[in-house]
Amino acid sequence: MILTMGVDLGSITAKCVILQDGCQVLAERVVKGGMVGGGAEKAVTETLAAAGVTQGELAYVVATGYGRVIFAEANEEMSEIGCHGKEAFFQEPSARIVIDIGGQDAKVIRLGAGGRVVNFVMNEKCAAGTGRFLEVMAQAMGYHVSELAQIGSQATGKVAISSTCTVFAESEVISHLAADKKLADIVAGIHESIARRIAGLAHRVGLEEKILVTGGVAQNQGVVAALAERLGRELLVPRFAQVNGALGAALYAFEKSSHCH
Ligand code: ADP
Repeated sequence: MILTMGVDLGSITAKCVILQDGCQVLAERVVKGGMVGGGAEKAVTETLAAAGVTQGELAYVVATGYGRVIFAEANEEMSEIGCHGKEAFFQEPSARIVIDIGGQDAKVIRLGAGGRVVNFVMNEKCAAGTGRFLEVMAQAMGYHVSELAQIGSQATGKVAISSTCTVFAESEVISHLAADKKLADIVAGIHESIARRIAGLAHRVGLEEKILVTGGVAQNQGVVAALAERLGRELLVPRFAQVNGALGAALYAFEKSSHCH
């Protein structure tokens, strides 16, 4: 039995996965606090405890994400793009596009044969089109980001959010609330706004038939549905969408450790 660990230090969250023999997820955790805030240690401790494994039993540990350099306990680092590609290929070998929507950036990755990364584009300059945008809007309306999908599912229309800038869009949302627009329709408009940005990014990479959506925002079915409609395609959301990068890291760790045996 070979146990490996993948740690993904994102901007907002830290994720950790323990994998048995490169295929079975023993435990996975997402904790608040990414690069700053001690998220890595907490995520690792909690995942080890949940899997009933000690650090010494791990054959290999790979770190990824923005903050990977600050995680000194890893045996190796790997780029986030590479990890996403690796995991996406493992989950769905025919997938050719991965759309990862995280807290601070969004990426569209095109994969070639064997899950090799052929091309990618990234939006990291602005919060629009990322999870941060949803967090700001949810907060402005007095809700948690995890409640948005459910609220948006009651929509009968979409209130247009015309500003792309998060700060202006927030003011728009507040004026729509003040004007007594239906909450669900405002939320649907917010989902549409983020879908529009992501679709623009995806078109720059070119679309292929099988598309996987990962990252924390993939848990919001409202965003996924709006994006599917915009792209005119069915989107696949893997079971461990938010920890996709960490899973890719754990998988890479498995490949490395099996070479050593
Ligand atoms: P990063 O890797 O940049 O830290 P994540 O991939 O973890 O980011 O995504 C964080 C984003 O995911 C948040 O900004 C939020 O919009 C979204 N999110 C997190 N949890 C949930 C949830 N339970 N339901 C819907 N969206 C969520």
